[in-house]
Amino acid sequence: MKEIQSNISIVGGGLIGAVSAYALSMLGNNVIILEKKPKFDSKIFLDKRTTAISEGTKKFLEEINIWKEIRHHAEPIKKIQIIDRNQSNKIYFDNQRRKSNLGYIVKNQFILDSIYKKIKKKENIKIFNNVSIKDISYDGERIITKQNNFLVNTNILLASDGKNSFIRKILKTPVYTKDYKKKAIVINFYHSKNHHNTAYEFFFKNGPLAILPMQKNKNEFQSSIVWTNTNEFINSLESLDDNKIISILNRKINGSIGKIKKIITKQTFPLRAHLNSKFFENRIIYLGDSAHSFHPIAGQGWNLGMQDLESLYNLVKKYNSLGLELGDELFCKEFQRDNFFKAYRLYQITDKVDSIFKFENIYFSNARFSAINLIEKSKKLKNQISDFAMGLS
Ligand SMILES: Cc1cc2nc3c(=O)[nH]c(=O)nc-3n(C[C@H](O)[C@H](O)[C@H](O)COP(=O)(O)OP(=O)(O)OC[C@H]3O[C@@H](n4cnc5c(N)ncnc54)[C@H](O)[C@@H]3O)c2cc1C
Repeated sequence: MKEIQSNISIVGGGLIGAVSAYALSMLGNNVIILEKKPKFDSKIFLDKRTTAISEGTKKFLEEINIWKEIRHHAEPIKKIQIIDRNQSNKIYFDNQRRKSNLGYIVKNQFILDSIYKKIKKKENIKIFNNVSIKDISYDGERIITKQNNFLVNTNILLASDGKNSFIRKILKTPVYTKDYKKKAIVINFYHSKNHHNTAYEFFFKNGPLAILPMQKNKNEFQSSIVWTNTNEFINSLESLDDNKIISILNRKINGSIGKIKKIITKQTFPLRAHLNSKFFENRIIYLGDSAHSFHPIAGQGWNLGMQDLESLYNLVKKYNSLGLELGDELFCKEFQRDNFFKAYRLYQITDKVDSIFKFENIYFSNARFSAINLIEKSKKLKNQISDFAMGLS
């Protein structure tokens, strides 16, 4: 059977795997991507979501020379309003202090297209589509994957095959999973008033509803809603015609961006979070959603995956400069040490924020009212929260 040599092989060429391939190839590594989808084309990925890119992620994308392609499609977030149920109880964030944006909204399709264009031009990246991994074995310091009709022999394997990671299943890495028994519906739409680069997050009993400002399209104001609710509610919402959905949404968003005029796309996602008990196995690193996934309440899943990647990038740089082989036990443990706690912290924060907002009783409502007031009045707390959301702390 044909055997291909590389020093890094990546299983899964989605939002994390594709950027990883590009970033690590820039350090002079030979990279192989093994992707189960038939083609590297964002249309095949059928992802109609947008991603809120944090300032921290943007900085890393600048460093690896990808931001300049994505930036043309990115709408800056200059202000954020967090609203508990009704308009009287809210927190405003802006970023006068750092004189930078709070984040950027980009369609996932544009992120993927920008990266795919770049990786297709790199001579030290080989892409294999339609791949189905059959087996993983070891030969001394090398790891060998068997797929379709060829073998890949490599120093280190990055599992970036998403939240249902096949690699995690075959290696039986223990994982903690939480099923929220809810869904998120993502709706992109045109509306009547300028969003003025403001993102809104309304907290309701059954989950948050976020409005994210998108770039204008054909002179029409455009935004995206991510609404979490019970499975039953989202299923029944999905079954309605667009005019009925628009009238429900118009009541919910309370005129903040005028009236919704037309729905462009809608897509639903089941809500589950998970955390692997560890982020490595022998010569294997779990990266992005294969290691962790979160409630999308804070729009941080990919951003955290990008922080994992930045730390891996720096580790590979260090090993390459010292002439050391990638992927030994020390390497994997250093990656785990630098990244596990951050994921655990984000899991706890997103999970707890979701539960704090769901209670309706008078004690919780009053406590929330006081907490929101306290944060709104405290510059220090606001700065700490915005630094965290921007991926700068
Ligand atoms: C509703 C919603 C909104 C979100 N909004 C945000 C946001 O605003 N900001 C943010 O930072 N994050 C957000 N996230 C999280 C973000 O979408 C994910 O963290 C991100 O997509 C993870 O990328 P990934 O590459 O790790 O996984 P994926 O995108 O799932 O990619 C996995 C890849 O692996 C491939 N694959 C799977 N199995 C195999 C196999 N056996 N062999 C080979 N290939 C395989 C798949 O085909 C795919 O290409 C959101 C999530 C949801 C659900």
